[in-house]
Amino acid sequence: MTELKSMHRKFGADQKSVVFASGIRKSFGSLDVLKGIDLEVPQGSVACIIGPSGSGKSTFLRCINHLEEINGGVLLVNGDFVGYRLVGDALHELPASAICHRRAEVGMVFQQFNLFPHMTVIENIVEAPIHVRKEPVAEARKFAHELLEQVGLSDKAEVYPRNLSGGQQQRVAIARALAMRPKVMLFDEPTSALDPELVGEVLNVMKELARKGMTMVIVTHEIGFAREVADQLIFMDGGVVVEKGDPNEMIANPKSERTREFLARVR
Ligand code: ADP
Ligand code: MG
Repeated sequence: MTELKSMHRKFGADQKSVVFASGIRKSFGSLDVLKGIDLEVPQGSVACIIGPSGSGKSTFLRCINHLEEINGGVLLVNGDFVGYRLVGDALHELPASAICHRRAEVGMVFQQFNLFPHMTVIENIVEAPIHVRKEPVAEARKFAHELLEQVGLSDKAEVYPRNLSGGQQQRVAIARALAMRPKVMLFDEPTSALDPELVGEVLNVMKELARKGMTMVIVTHEIGFAREVADQLIFMDGGVVVEKGDPNEMIANPKSERTREFLARVR
């Protein structure tokens, strides 16, 4: 643990950073998708990532969540090297079981809600806590009810996903991710698949989470939301971070021409 801490310091990471990414590179064959991404997300803060389609936003989130192996750079999540364990001074590749354990500390919400269609809302929520975290059933169900209340769906516990609106399904997906008691929540365009009138209810749940101090990394096209909630705004294009900083400042006064053009298009 002390070695990890010194390694952590060596790479310049703030001890309180939940995500520390430095020079992250990722390629698919000859396609360089991430060309050196730097990002630090302090505990309890919200980072919003914006950028055109194909710029590597989803790939970056997938790296944070151990769903993609990085080809270069340093990536620490919750103080651990993604995909590796530090033994003495050497980094050893993690076995699949350990990756699974670490992934459980990262909650992820996708554009498509991906609820299990054959399970009720409450079954969806308690599935992973019971089977992955080995929580007692009663405890998992109790927490699930608390989470349903938090996302405003107390009365939907026994309903099947097909009988819910898109906004309600996405709120269940958020509750399901929270049920694993993650240290950080990743959102990949969580409102992009929703009818416009349902976007607000999902954003409100996310705002409430931010207010409660959840650390979040959010890919979104909702600029107004980002301005209100984000502690830092990141503009990605072509696999690089073109610009990042205070959302209000960046939106009012983008430094880069590419950022300016993008903001003009999405607003
Ligand atoms: P964004 O989320 O910003 O739209 P993505 O991260 O989804 O961008 O994709 C960035 C680029 O990487 C795209 O060109 C996409 O086609 C490519 N890509 C993503 N995943 C894979 C994969 N598994 N295999 C090959 N190419 C991929
Ligand atoms: Mg994407």
